[in-house]
Amino acid sequence: MAPLRSLFALPNESAFDPARWSEAAFDIWQGSHLTPTALAHASERRVRALIVYAREASPFYSRLYRRLPLHGLHLRDLPPVTKSQLMKHFDDVVTQPGVTREVIEAFIADPARIGHSLLGRFSIFTSSGTTGTPGYFVHDPDALAVYDALEAQRFRGLLSPADVLRQVMEGDRYAMVAATESHFAGIATVERMRRWAPWMSGAVRALALLQPCAALVQELNLYRPTILATYPTAAEMLAEEQEAGRLRLRLREIWTGGEVLSEPTRLRVQRAFGCRVRSAYGASEFLPIAWECPHRTLHVNSDWVVLEPVDRQGRAVEPGMRSYSVLLTNLANRVQPLIRYDLGDAVTVHAERCACGSAFPAVSVAGRCDDALRLPARRGGGEVTVVPLALETVLEEGAGAHEFQIVQAADGSLTVHLGNHERSRRAPVRAALRRYFETCEVGPVDIVVSRRAPMRDAASGKLRRVVCELDR
Ligand SMILES: [Zn+2]
Repeated sequence: MAPLRSLFALPNESAFDPARWSEAAFDIWQGSHLTPTALAHASERRVRALIVYAREASPFYSRLYRRLPLHGLHLRDLPPVTKSQLMKHFDDVVTQPGVTREVIEAFIADPARIGHSLLGRFSIFTSSGTTGTPGYFVHDPDALAVYDALEAQRFRGLLSPADVLRQVMEGDRYAMVAATESHFAGIATVERMRRWAPWMSGAVRALALLQPCAALVQELNLYRPTILATYPTAAEMLAEEQEAGRLRLRLREIWTGGEVLSEPTRLRVQRAFGCRVRSAYGASEFLPIAWECPHRTLHVNSDWVVLEPVDRQGRAVEPGMRSYSVLLTNLANRVQPLIRYDLGDAVTVHAERCACGSAFPAVSVAGRCDDALRLPARRGGGEVTVVPLALETVLEEGAGAHEFQIVQAADGSLTVHLGNHERSRRAPVRAALRRYFETCEVGPVDIVVSRRAPMRDAASGKLRRVVCELDR
């Protein structure tokens, strides 16, 4: 392992490149002032350059496109790709020598490296994914500069260094409550920021969602963040704590991501904390896909990411219609090109422009729609809310299971359905859940592990991994 280890940490790995960052910031600032037609042209130019690059630098894409003409290609002419395909041919997909599956697996095996860079340059995000295939996504420094600038300017409205300074002076403290056990995009980004700018590490923190609720509440009360970023289901769980008076936060804003923010959840969380709640849409494949404007509309960063909504047969879906899935093309990242990559989310691109006047396309996402479970507390007779992303992390990281469905029936009983080829995971699944419930102070719960394969939703065809059938 020694040679691999020395590769991970080159001496300048925390170096921040101001030239690259300012270039990205200027590009994004310019993009924000384009008309819809000029935006489409900017995106087309980047698509063409990406296709030429992938064809030359990635043996996988070069094989995939070998029968296609060299010129006059449109994105829609190219075959879509899936996560399992990209993972299977990982070493042929990536365009940089030294970035191999073996190197990445060794890197992510060590949680102490979360937020560090690989080979001194690349960020790695792991994703569990709703499709059941775990994935690794490598992002190069140019792509990271683009994500950072998109996030700063379009989501946070920090348009100049003076805005950034003002925010620092205002003393904002940022807390992300998320799964922190592996190299997930959220925690990896927070840790990368802390390494790049140690002076702000006191004001940026990631807190583990997978800990007993009381411990999390205590940590948050001590840290006193002004901005909280988390999953909608976790925000709802914390809203309960705030209403009960155990959590005592005075927040300026709550940012949600990772799951769909429903209107009832938004209102409930807003009421409990008395602050604005904003959602964003992102993925390990492209961090800031869309941001929410003051009209509560998600706008796609269409100058840097292309979303193509498709039906079950992969045909384009018209604006205004909900898609079965969506193909993503990342225009910022060259190290692991993603071109017409099947992201799996159901989206609707709005036919009309948003009332805010933005030129960026408006979109609704019906991506992850897993439920939180409500289990009996070990003491005091109350209930413990267990959020879906925590359960998924427990089963994936703790039991190595990827194809599962946890169902809490109307009578409160709990069943885990494991596909047939996950049968060897039955005992580890039960043990991992027991351990986790114990840490969360959940009372004794019977866990039935069934041989029935996870069932897809009859209407959408999507696999919901955590389903709660209790009445709200
Ligand atoms: Zn808008």
